[in-house]
Amino acid sequence: MPATVSNVTTDLMPAAFMGHGSPMNTLEHNRYTELWNSFGSSVPRPRAVLAVSAHWYINATAVTAMAQPKTIHDFFGFPDELFAFQYGAPGSPEIAQEILDTVAPTWVGLDRDSWGLDHGTWSVLHHLFPSADVPVLQLSINGAAAPDYHVRLGAALAPLREQGILIVGSGNVVHNLGRLAWGHPDAAYDWAQAFDEEAERIMTTAPGEILSLFEHPAYPLASPTPDHFLPLLYLAGLAVAAGTTCEKLIGGYALGSLSMTSYVLR
Ligand code: ZN
Repeated sequence: MPATVSNVTTDLMPAAFMGHGSPMNTLEHNRYTELWNSFGSSVPRPRAVLAVSAHWYINATAVTAMAQPKTIHDFFGFPDELFAFQYGAPGSPEIAQEILDTVAPTWVGLDRDSWGLDHGTWSVLHHLFPSADVPVLQLSINGAAAPDYHVRLGAALAPLREQGILIVGSGNVVHNLGRLAWGHPDAAYDWAQAFDEEAERIMTTAPGEILSLFEHPAYPLASPTPDHFLPLLYLAGLAVAAGTTCEKLIGGYALGSLSMTSYVLR
């Protein structure tokens, strides 16, 4: 059941983490894409979206700062229709600078011509804002940083919520492509479910404990590489900064080793 977000006037923009799953979710219509669509149409219209995508995982923290970010097709083995997909949302060099100023003294690079919008961002945003008329910026995930860095940087982004910026993390709480169970489209391994349920407990009751998930016995299987898990830490940090907890927007699994669970912070 998709959650609804009231359209009352508020100075505080929600923030979210979306489990994006397969790039094919861009073209498909299912209960996850319906949730993304209803979420996008229920939030106050943002000045811009700041996306923290699993797929921009580099050795630095950077924000896209081009006026017109390109659509990056960072995958292979998918239909031509997906490679032809374009998400034409503008960027905003001005808001990129605003983000730098907000998180200072934490260093963030301005990316004027390297990255753009990858499929972690546009597979979800195509459903949130199908008209692609809200400016979109991406924040890279600094793979060289310690885990707590991401929670603290997430918290440092909090003032942007008061400036009309919708922050969306896009990853998967459980993401193990080496363990995909083809033929089980909506199932989960026991370890995947155990990890996802502990993540839910933490996000909905004590987001400040998010780093304990790195010690969970299922962590090595749930997150063999941290790229898809780390975007969740940004929402946890935002929740800590707000002194509150998150709500689960939707839960579910795909192919045994992917969690599709999404969260919102209101
Ligand atoms: Zn992905």
